[in-house]
Amino acid sequence: MSLLVVGSVALDSVATPFGKVDDALGGSACYFSTSASFFSDVQLVAVIGDHFPEEHVDFLAGRNINLDGLQRSPGKTFRWEGRYEYDLNEAQTLDTRLNVFEQFRPQLSETHREAEYVFLANIDPELQFEVLNQVKKPQLVACDTMNFWIGGKRDALIRTLAHVDILIINEAEVRQLADEPNLIKAAEVVRGFGPRILAVKRGEYGVLMFSEHSVFAAPAYPLESVFDPTGAGDTFAGGFFGYLAATRNLDDASLRRATIFGTVMASFTVEKFSLERLKTLNHSEIEDRYKHLQAMTTFSLPE
Ligand code: AMP
Repeated sequence: MSLLVVGSVALDSVATPFGKVDDALGGSACYFSTSASFFSDVQLVAVIGDHFPEEHVDFLAGRNINLDGLQRSPGKTFRWEGRYEYDLNEAQTLDTRLNVFEQFRPQLSETHREAEYVFLANIDPELQFEVLNQVKKPQLVACDTMNFWIGGKRDALIRTLAHVDILIINEAEVRQLADEPNLIKAAEVVRGFGPRILAVKRGEYGVLMFSEHSVFAAPAYPLESVFDPTGAGDTFAGGFFGYLAATRNLDDASLRRATIFGTVMASFTVEKFSLERLKTLNHSEIEDRYKHLQAMTTFSLPE
């Protein structure tokens, strides 16, 4: 099953208490599609500028990601600069340069318009809407966003959300979007905007997934060394949605398994800068952590 993603392809400059990196491969669509590619075929829609390193394109192509929708435009690639203090749960954005994304008007090919699974990764909600409008009969639409867009393009975001089945979003952003401090109430408000399923990312505290009939709590995978949390959310989304696209099932058990696969994928990303850890990842490492998380979270009623 092929899934289509639109989002940012970026060059990130990131500083954490453990080191720093300049102009490294990043962007919501890169983390998402690399992670999803372990489960499903992926078609990427995004834009890059002049001088975007060819090795990054080769890496994405090497993961079998379809790059027909990766447009090259004159100008600079999207750039994000961020920093983390010892509390790695919160990224501080120092600079966001949309660059070639400012003029990006994606025109989907006939093949892309046939996509059944669509992921609107974190990018301008107007772009998300434009892409979604071109897909003929989407079966399942998921979406991510961030404070930058909730604050700056709220109306466009609410318009997009009306067409979304699954929203994957940070805890603080659910509160901001709902304008409601209590997370449970905030989730209900946001589900009222359209998405029937909500996966709330809570950094090192894991994920809360609200669906029609239940709430599922998954802890983060316990790691001794977290190096750089950038991309954890997008990698989670890639594992979550990639698994759903592969199984074509939305029952409660599948949603829970998807949440655990997302959690496992994110746990690898944070071990190194950029996509470095995902570059060496293999399926048996994913299976091992999946089983470990299962063992960690199983409990029974008292006799
Ligand atoms: P996260 O998974 O939330 O840590 O996402 C980090 C990625 O989001 C980085 O690689 C950035 O390039 C990208 N990013 C940061 N700000 C934006 C933005 N305003 N729009 C789209 N992508 C962004």
